[in-house]
Amino acid sequence: MFKFRFLYSWRFYSFGREQYQECMNYVFNNNLLSLRQGNTLLAVFAVVFAFFPMLVEQDIIKGFIYLGVACIAMVMSFIANYTMQQINVNNRIIYLLIILFYVNLMFFGIYLSVLSNPDETATIFSCFIICSLLLYVFPPQFNLILTFCSLTAFFITTVIIKDFRIWVYDIVNSLVAAILGIYFSWHFTKLRLGLEISANKLEEERNKYVDQSITDELTQLRNRRDFMATFNRFLSNYRASDDWLCVAIADIDYFKMYNDHYGHPKGDDCLRAIGAALNSLNSLGVYAARVGGEEFALLWFEKDPANVDNVIFRWNETIRDLNILHEKSKVSKHVTTSIGVYIVRCGTHHDTQVLYDYADKALYTAKGSGRNCTIILGDDIKQYKITPKDND
Ligand code: GH3
Ligand code: MG
Ligand code: MG
Repeated sequence: MFKFRFLYSWRFYSFGREQYQECMNYVFNNNLLSLRQGNTLLAVFAVVFAFFPMLVEQDIIKGFIYLGVACIAMVMSFIANYTMQQINVNNRIIYLLIILFYVNLMFFGIYLSVLSNPDETATIFSCFIICSLLLYVFPPQFNLILTFCSLTAFFITTVIIKDFRIWVYDIVNSLVAAILGIYFSWHFTKLRLGLEISANKLEEERNKYVDQSITDELTQLRNRRDFMATFNRFLSNYRASDDWLCVAIADIDYFKMYNDHYGHPKGDDCLRAIGAALNSLNSLGVYAARVGGEEFALLWFEKDPANVDNVIFRWNETIRDLNILHEKSKVSKHVTTSIGVYIVRCGTHHDTQVLYDYADKALYTAKGSGRNCTIILGDDIKQYKITPKDND
């Protein structure tokens, strides 16, 4: 579609072009709603106009022409309504409906004002008002061209058919109507885009606050609140009943000593590094959150419970690669973690707290059995231990 760039700045000078285009796309996608409303409005007008010739002038043919216009408008309103309910709407249908709407409106206006009463002045005023008011739903170049065509067609017919005194009056009338219509349309568009933009901004703000409320500031991992919500969701919305849900709690070994020896800021750096490392497990489909000071929780699904070990191996590898010196640790020269894992078959458990406590118990066992290791437990799984290869 060709573009008259100046029209963008002319009509919507108060918005940035990018913002304007983004919102106009949204508006265009909502055109069907406006087309439905526009056609219904036209149908109502046509029906109201039909009463006068039918009842007062006793001109049945003229009345039926108005009713014909109303029928076409109603059919298009139904088409717009039907199209709105489709999932993939083709833009061509929208353009076609827009053109048909204008054609219907144009012929209605011309017939109404010119052909039916050559010795009277035009009443096209209302038609162009409606027409122009509706402009705000369409891309500007498109509706300005259509309005221009409609006006030209009207001017030509009126000049050919009517006396000078009447057509001058008509032209002044319709020009005033078109200018008024465009003026209103401009304001409606600004209003609509303005609302759209503020709604977008509000949505952005809302998303920002929602994100903040579920993110841990230090590690940028999800926080405990999000973990509990996700845990509940995972427990109730699992994908298949033969899936296994794994919940793991990882705790840094001798972290108090790390803090005491290296200082709190270094401790924070360590937590950040471990948070980033945990985030890298996303590629294995693992959800990670910081649930306490130096405690992290993981959730993931497995088809085969034996595959749990892969995640743990990868975790141990990642921590080893971080290679953070911890001279005060009694189990290694580097920072290590102890992990408790509990595995359940999906659909068999519904209480997150109970499962969390089981995983916590596994962690406690890992701490008790020398730290720097993982204890895996499960409903039908015999407890076993994984010890990482040391990097000392
Ligand atoms: P264990 O091996 O038994 O887990 O021993 P630990 O020292 O890691 O466990 P403990 O619960 O005694 O100490 C946890 C420490 O974590 C205490 C606190 O100083 C530290 N900690 C908790 N939150 C933060 C934090 O946000 N930043 C820093 N730097 N340290 C934190
Ligand atoms: Mg600890
Ligand atoms: Mg702890």
